[in-house]
Amino acid sequence: MAFSDDFLDELTRRNDIVDVVGSYVPLTKRSGVNMFGLCPFHGEKTPSFSVNPERQIYHCFGCGKGGGVISFIMEIENLSYPDAVRFLAKRAGMEVPEDHYDPRQNRRSRMLALNQEAARFFHAQLMADTGRPGQDYVRRRGIVSMVKPFGLGFAPDSWQSLIDAMTAKGYTRQDLVEAGLARAGKNGSLYDYFRGRLMFPVIDVRGNVIGFSGRILSDGEPKYLNSPDTLVYSKSRSLFALNLAKKSKSGYILLAEGNIDVVSLHQAGFDSAVASLGTSLTADQARLLARYTSQVIIAYDADSAGRKAAQRAIGILQPLDLKIKVVEIPGAKDPDEFIQQKGPQAFRELIERSGGQVEYRLEQTAAGFDLNTDEGRVGFLKAAAKLIASLPGSVEREIYGMRAAEKAGVSRDAFLTEVERVRRQSAAAAKKRLDREQTAPLRAAQPKERTLRYDNVRSAVAEEGVLNLLCRFPEQFSDLALTGADFTSPALGRLYDAVAERVRQGRSVSLDVLGQTFSPEELTLLAGILQRDSVPAVAARQAMDDYINKIRTEKERQSRADDLRGYAEKLKRTKGYGS
Ligand SMILES: [Zn+2]
Repeated sequence: MAFSDDFLDELTRRNDIVDVVGSYVPLTKRSGVNMFGLCPFHGEKTPSFSVNPERQIYHCFGCGKGGGVISFIMEIENLSYPDAVRFLAKRAGMEVPEDHYDPRQNRRSRMLALNQEAARFFHAQLMADTGRPGQDYVRRRGIVSMVKPFGLGFAPDSWQSLIDAMTAKGYTRQDLVEAGLARAGKNGSLYDYFRGRLMFPVIDVRGNVIGFSGRILSDGEPKYLNSPDTLVYSKSRSLFALNLAKKSKSGYILLAEGNIDVVSLHQAGFDSAVASLGTSLTADQARLLARYTSQVIIAYDADSAGRKAAQRAIGILQPLDLKIKVVEIPGAKDPDEFIQQKGPQAFRELIERSGGQVEYRLEQTAAGFDLNTDEGRVGFLKAAAKLIASLPGSVEREIYGMRAAEKAGVSRDAFLTEVERVRRQSAAAAKKRLDREQTAPLRAAQPKERTLRYDNVRSAVAEEGVLNLLCRFPEQFSDLALTGADFTSPALGRLYDAVAERVRQGRSVSLDVLGQTFSPEELTLLAGILQRDSVPAVAARQAMDDYINKIRTEKERQSRADDLRGYAEKLKRTKGYGS
């Protein structure tokens, strides 16, 4: 039911982590055995992302992400474990022993093949006579030349046409329902899910058709009908047209509201336009964007819903340290209408002139207050000061401070004093937080992932030490009298058992092989543990003894405490003491 250890060992031997990671992240610095670069998973300006060629792991000292080469590919290419294995096998020119694997994989490939066939069917319909309504629409929107690159199609207004075509190709009812292309009616008979719609296939960055979005051509509702989430499709993790936008040379990604806007923008020469699919932008989609660009330009509709959505998107994009701009569209309801009226060049100028997100948020904040009243001005002043105080650069604070002061009709100095007050306040709060962390060093030893929190941190620190030494010096510790059951942290215990088993078999410790049985969070934890070099080889034996003693004494302490508690409980029950 899984890839064999031999296969995975060979796979990771042929995909050196430095080569693989290096093709995504320039590893510009070296410190000891480690290579360092800018972390692709969180925004940073000085490299804290390390790759250790000896242990074949990566670990970010900033955000804590880590793992082996397979976890890296899973994370950066947004793939499942088996797909990451396939990806690396392809890279190294290896055959994947399919038959060893999960039947779900076969389901996945079948779903993808079915989607591909369905996309072909819809496209052929659009080109045929039956596709007249679709052709008219495409012509009216002026996007005829985009039909091919986007693989646009037409779903005929009938209940069975896709079902008939796909069953003729050997797909079953179950296939169609699982792929979200057909539904079962009350009497159990199937009907086509998409009918009378212009079809936009959703294609992932690897070129697979993963789902569909269909736009109604008449007045019906909903305007866009999207595939439900399936084995191969998750709306909240996909972006429409990212497969095309990722090749753009524009240096930014244009985030539009609907699919048709995206197609029109591409038609007008803005080849980096994408849209989220029937949802407002999600954190997963934002991370996906951050993988392909460092600048996002939001071009939503000009109405109040569009403005609200833009504010929300800014909030989601900001933590990723992307440069964010918002295009405000004057005199038209959306980018498409604007381009139809004024032409692409005017829109390009709009993009260039568009304000950064600070300006935009300042405008939006101002819109929330009545600046003709004292009350409104004070309210705006406070809100704007908070916004500006959060800006990292003093020049930026000065510039935007001046602008805000003008708006509120107060002096620049009065405004900047308020900003300073807010900054002092948040600095004091930050210092307090830091102090708390330093007086409680044990709390800092907790894993970032909540579900892996340690109950007994003292013991867990020793347990981490055991794992570190066992992975680093397997030849010294192939016969430890310790099992995972001795550990207080269940996750560390399970990791220990798995690593110890590999060591007993004389295999190298590979996070990649462990990735089959452990979650990415657990691997991240282990990578962090492995990236510590505190104990040198000569002291390893002594340190190991100390760790094991610590685990034992903590265990005794714990069981004594449990006994006492049990005894007290018993007394309470039998004699009514202590209540
Ligand atoms: Zn990081």
